[in-house]
Amino acid sequence: AGAFLSVRDLYVHFDTEDGTVKAVDGLSFDLERGQTLGIVGESGSGKSVTNLSILGLHNPRTTEVSGEILLDGQELTGAREKTLESLRGNKMAMIFQDPLTALSPYYTVGRQIGEPYRKHRGASKRETRERTIEMLDKVGIPNAKQRVDDYPHQFSGGMRQRAMIAMALICDPDLLIADEPTTALDVTVQAQILDLLKDLQQEFGSAIVFITHDLGVIANVADDILVMYGGRAVERGSVREVLRAPQHPYTWGLLSSMPRLGGDVNEALSPIHGTPPSLLSPPPGCAFHPRCGFVDEVAGGLSCSADRPVLPAGRGAACHLTAEQQSTFFIEQIKPR
Ligand code: SF4
Ligand code: MG
Repeated sequence: AGAFLSVRDLYVHFDTEDGTVKAVDGLSFDLERGQTLGIVGESGSGKSVTNLSILGLHNPRTTEVSGEILLDGQELTGAREKTLESLRGNKMAMIFQDPLTALSPYYTVGRQIGEPYRKHRGASKRETRERTIEMLDKVGIPNAKQRVDDYPHQFSGGMRQRAMIAMALICDPDLLIADEPTTALDVTVQAQILDLLKDLQQEFGSAIVFITHDLGVIANVADDILVMYGGRAVERGSVREVLRAPQHPYTWGLLSSMPRLGGDVNEALSPIHGTPPSLLSPPPGCAFHPRCGFVDEVAGGLSCSADRPVLPAGRGAACHLTAEQQSTFFIEQIKPR
């Protein structure tokens, strides 16, 4: 049997006035129940678009999605809107970066949290209220019985994010997609929310796709990491593997911009300089080559600007450097002493 969530050769292309944007360009990954996959990359790497296409939230008139997304054996890429609607907020749920855009100022927090439960479970008003209070309690909102009737503006930023988590989990989803859920919060609250997510995952057993630009956050929550660049996955492995012995020069750049390592890194070698690739006309070969400090090291007749490196299945990186070069360069030039 396949993985609980299985994404195979996913392409998400959309038309703009300037041409076709290849937001996701051939992406594959697996995720099991109770596991967290961290997808990390800069903005424009395709990570958020991936999440939207899993949920079926892209615009079908301008967006072309191909490949396979199987959730518990059910095909999502070709699914009807009605099917997707019955899954969203129910079997799969999402937490976004900014709860203020997701919560309406006109309705009480409780009413909004309870909405998916009424809709998908056909629960009565009283049942929904009880369940909502229970969820507010679970996510650590004090005096849930009173706060359920508050409006979003009466909640702090951290409490609003907790409310969003309560809403996402109210139907006990099998898959939770969290897109930069803590980015807008201060560090202390961020740590609390991450702890809360981990605890709730234990309780609910959901599979979580955690999307972020911050490798430090991933280190705290994920089991596996997928690094995305220019709409493609460039490295994958367990958190331990990727953080201890990252193989792709782009991952080195992400690592070196983590605060704990930042001070020790040789600036000239940090491959994070420059801008992310255009998704309209991505660079040929390795999309990272215009920013990479190691193009001249590649041997064996391979060219970074002409030959596209392939990401192997399982642990690995899409890079023409040999495994030996990757570990040597990382240890000698990138890793802080
Ligand atoms: Fe750098 Fe070449 Fe590896 Fe791409 S394939 S990351 S350009 S060394
Ligand atoms: Mg994004």
